[in-house]
Amino acid sequence: MSVPPAAPPPYQAYSIAGQTALVTGASSGIGEACAWRFAEAGCKLVLVARRAERLAALQQAIQQHYNVPVHTIVLDVQDLEAIARLPAELPAEFREVDILLPNAGLALGVASVHELDMQDAATMINTNVLSVMALVRAFTPSMVVRNRGHLLFMSSIAGREAYSGGGGYCASKHALEAFATSARHDLVGTNIRVTSIQPGAVKTEFSVVRFKGDGSKADAVYEGIHPLLAADIADNTLYACTRPPHVQVAEMLVFATYQCSAKVIARVLKE
Ligand code: NAP
Repeated sequence: MSVPPAAPPPYQAYSIAGQTALVTGASSGIGEACAWRFAEAGCKLVLVARRAERLAALQQAIQQHYNVPVHTIVLDVQDLEAIARLPAELPAEFREVDILLPNAGLALGVASVHELDMQDAATMINTNVLSVMALVRAFTPSMVVRNRGHLLFMSSIAGREAYSGGGGYCASKHALEAFATSARHDLVGTNIRVTSIQPGAVKTEFSVVRFKGDGSKADAVYEGIHPLLAADIADNTLYACTRPPHVQVAEMLVFATYQCSAKVIARVLKE
């Protein structure tokens, strides 16, 4: 008689409690949702954005709810010199960042390449690409010395597919993908993990920003679908961080159920 196989032990997730997570773009959307989930997981937080009031309110709410240390920095991430100074300027207890989530980013407009607003293009490249490079440059040396850490890039389906009207944004997210891949190559052989998260349509302030405050154009993006929510992407982000140390989630492409590519969305839900 054959012996029945023993049930495997429950899979052990990895605890990130006590680690320091730095999140840019924490005043809204995906960054804010990630801040809450890192706090729930017991992380110390460094939260970065330009809107000081929102950051202060979030800091207070998170500290009240989860009782974890939260430090806020009001900063335009396009200021690359200020980013370079950050590690030295942080209070000592936050200085050794373990989880870096340079999430601040934006799309501006839907102009065709022959009509591109060069100021918008520069803002997208500076915010979505150069600031991320500067943050990695600032915080990864300490990760290398300590041989631990996680770089999480908030990319997009626009980092995998280019589409009409996305000249600036798609170029920025493709550049981010290349940078993430280079980072994975540069850091192979260390315990530092590199994850690129590639969301489809997520209902945040993203479309309001893209359409420069035009709420009806922003709402139309999510019409007839049940879009992803910031909390969904925060959950994906936490998943990547809480795998055991030998597991590197390299890429996560996440769509709403009614979406299958950047521009193909089945708008079939009725109000
Ligand atoms: P969101 O709600 O508009 O949040 C964007 C965040 O970035 C805000 O906290 C904003 O804060 C911050 N930010 C923008 N420019 C900044 C700057 N120069 N300096 C500092 N902070 C800046 O949009 P979201 O959807 O959460 O976007 C987060 C990331 O997800 C972006 O990288 C975006 O490309 C990516 N993503 C979004 C979607 C989507 O459909 N929503 C899909 C794929 C990828 P302040 O304005 O207070 O500075």
